[in-house]
Amino acid sequence: MPIYAQVFLRHARPSFDRLYDYLVPPPLEGIIRPGMQVLVPFGRGDSLRPAFVRRLADGPSETKGPVTLKSIDSLVENFPLLRGDQLELCEHMAIRYATTRGEAARLMIPALTEEAAGPGGGRVRHVSLTDREAAISLLENGDVTHVNQIRIMEFLLDAEAPVAAHDLLTACQLTESTLVTLRRKGWIETSWLTEEPAREEPAAPLVVDPAALRLTPGQQAALGRLLAAYKGRGEPGPRVREYLLQGVTGSGKTEVYLRLAEAVVAAGQGVIILVPEIGLTPQMSERIQSFFGEQVAIQHSRLTPRERQRQWELIRSGRVQVVVGARSAVFSPLENLGLIVIDEEQESTYRSDRNPRYDARSVARLRVRDRQALLLLGSATPSLESRQRCDRGMSELLRIGERPAGARLPSVRVVDLRQQAAGGIEGLFSPVLHRAMTETFARGEQVMLFHNRRGWSGLEICSHCGAVVECQACSVAMTLHLGRHGRPDRLECHYCGLTHAVPPVCPSCGEAALAPRGFGTEQIESIFKEVFPGRRILRMDQDTTTGRGSHASILGAFRRREADCLLGTQMIAKGHDFPDVTLVGVLLADQLFQANDFHASERGFQLLTQAAGRAGRADRPGHVIIQAFATDHEALNRAVAQDYEGFYRQELRFREKLGYPPYSTMGTITVSHSSDPFAERACRSIMEELVRQARRAGLVGLRVLPPTPAAIQRLNNRSRWQLHLTSPLTRDIAWLFGIAAGMRLESGTAIGLSMDPA
Ligand code: ADP
Ligand code: ZN
Repeated sequence: MPIYAQVFLRHARPSFDRLYDYLVPPPLEGIIRPGMQVLVPFGRGDSLRPAFVRRLADGPSETKGPVTLKSIDSLVENFPLLRGDQLELCEHMAIRYATTRGEAARLMIPALTEEAAGPGGGRVRHVSLTDREAAISLLENGDVTHVNQIRIMEFLLDAEAPVAAHDLLTACQLTESTLVTLRRKGWIETSWLTEEPAREEPAAPLVVDPAALRLTPGQQAALGRLLAAYKGRGEPGPRVREYLLQGVTGSGKTEVYLRLAEAVVAAGQGVIILVPEIGLTPQMSERIQSFFGEQVAIQHSRLTPRERQRQWELIRSGRVQVVVGARSAVFSPLENLGLIVIDEEQESTYRSDRNPRYDARSVARLRVRDRQALLLLGSATPSLESRQRCDRGMSELLRIGERPAGARLPSVRVVDLRQQAAGGIEGLFSPVLHRAMTETFARGEQVMLFHNRRGWSGLEICSHCGAVVECQACSVAMTLHLGRHGRPDRLECHYCGLTHAVPPVCPSCGEAALAPRGFGTEQIESIFKEVFPGRRILRMDQDTTTGRGSHASILGAFRRREADCLLGTQMIAKGHDFPDVTLVGVLLADQLFQANDFHASERGFQLLTQAAGRAGRADRPGHVIIQAFATDHEALNRAVAQDYEGFYRQELRFREKLGYPPYSTMGTITVSHSSDPFAERACRSIMEELVRQARRAGLVGLRVLPPTPAAIQRLNNRSRWQLHLTSPLTRDIAWLFGIAAGMRLESGTAIGLSMDPA
């Protein structure tokens, strides 16, 4: 009978994150199991701390002489929160992402919320405005200086009745801290009320009857290979059985996922299907749900904590076999996992932007490794890393080259904006695009316009002294936005959310010469209405999609033909399939290639190819018009020609020459502090320590570049410095990250660790 347990703490600093031995008290013998959450006395004061049981044993793991081991105090739940393979995953993640086991575990279980521990009786915390009239005048006078706060106040004004706190926060995509601030100012108040049942968005009708589909030869070949691989899963093979399904946009990759998943479920195993963002791809999840019905659970960030908990429980208890979700669904507690599918695998949403900065693709590899499970990545434009894994024999490439019968790839035309007579329609719609739009509308078909900048206009530049209005807290220019009265009279920082009225004169020279520059989606919407009177337009960007279900309702309205044109940022470039869209316009393609990191070309190529793929997916031919100034840009032309192979080879050569990923792993350490010299100094001392340790360990092929200010040096009143490391071995970077994370730094210093590929 095992009477010892090894546990790790739920909350630990890196320096004391390890396995600790405890005695299992007699009443818990036979009850306690690995993965259970327990309370243990810890430290000198023996305060009770939550911990997870890693394993049970007949004896203590350490032989440190006659120590009197402490006993486990009690169980938190009477069932394991973590499964065996998840416990292993915690260990792997702690090493790979320089995090603690407890932090990794946190990703795998739903947050235990305040609501869960609330006063009960089905009552939850609600929020309302303290004084509606006062709120209106605060907003009118511009006294609310943060977009997050404005969002909440406006939401509450619209709502009229108190709103459940978790609904409010998920709808506005915000965290508790904004509520705390607003409560401190006395602008909102909270109360405990009975919760209203949530209203469900009506699902958009499905376009195709799944039973009626006959697979194309390309789909059939890919599926055949995957089914064979799945059947042979018990035979000896590579540690990770990985496949890359590369199919042009609209080639029907989803159909392949579904039929493979069907076979896996039929064999009694579970399936995880990851999509970039549920809200952006409602069709995909509807398609999966209509295929599998009751067997599907959904996991994503816009669920209320309670709903999330319910879905998690469905999975944990084995009542569902299929999970669809965004990044974090890769951690789902399916018992007998047989397949992980990652759709649009190149999407950046698979990388976490918070610590631990994991990549769902790498985590998926860890989860299927050494198990009888398959990993399937799918994309029209695979990331260089994933595609190169095929060339290196770590993954197998499966291709679908054609669209189902009748659907053709769109024709693509590039318009050189330099050749366009100035004036035109304010230089926004070239005559070519304008004519094509007019004709498309006249035929009763729909148009999608793609522009990757939100707000009214790019910069507010003083035409007298040339100064830009910068954010007070960040070293970035502010963006002009529509204000409360429908006029562009408000500036907003897209990084920290600070907002205020446009100053009457230039803050640097005092002249009244501030003028807008460039176009954002708000202004384009307004110009569209002038240029195409009577045509209806929907705008989809971060500003129109803060409410819960707003993505789905905009996309649904467009599908129901309630608008002629859908204008949006990169949000609309992905995976949507609108049968009546026959024209896609990209207003300024140059923008897609402007970013100051080495991924710029790759991302631009992917976005442009994806956006172009939206046109003409049914039996009507599609057209794509791409406007650009730099029409000779290499990646742009490869995208226009839909030449993935050419792009891939060319970009790989460039990466190889510079020793960039995927030829190395790049680690970036960002050090921030409110004082600039402090941040720089801390960055330097980390570099010195890492170099010293690397020398001592004799690491080979490691490069450490000297500290540089981050691209945005000041963010939210903190100065940021960066250190770049590259190495042929991911392991070495992870090891150095661990050292950096464990260093004692001046108080007030924060460090962020990110790896590429992560
Ligand atoms: P992808 O994800 O590869 O871009 P989708 O899976 O979204 O493509 O499929 C594009 C469209 O083609 C969808 O409307 C889908 O229902 C349809 N489709 C898929 N396979 C077939 C098929 N074999 N025959 C007819 N239509 C199909
Ligand atoms: Zn700012």
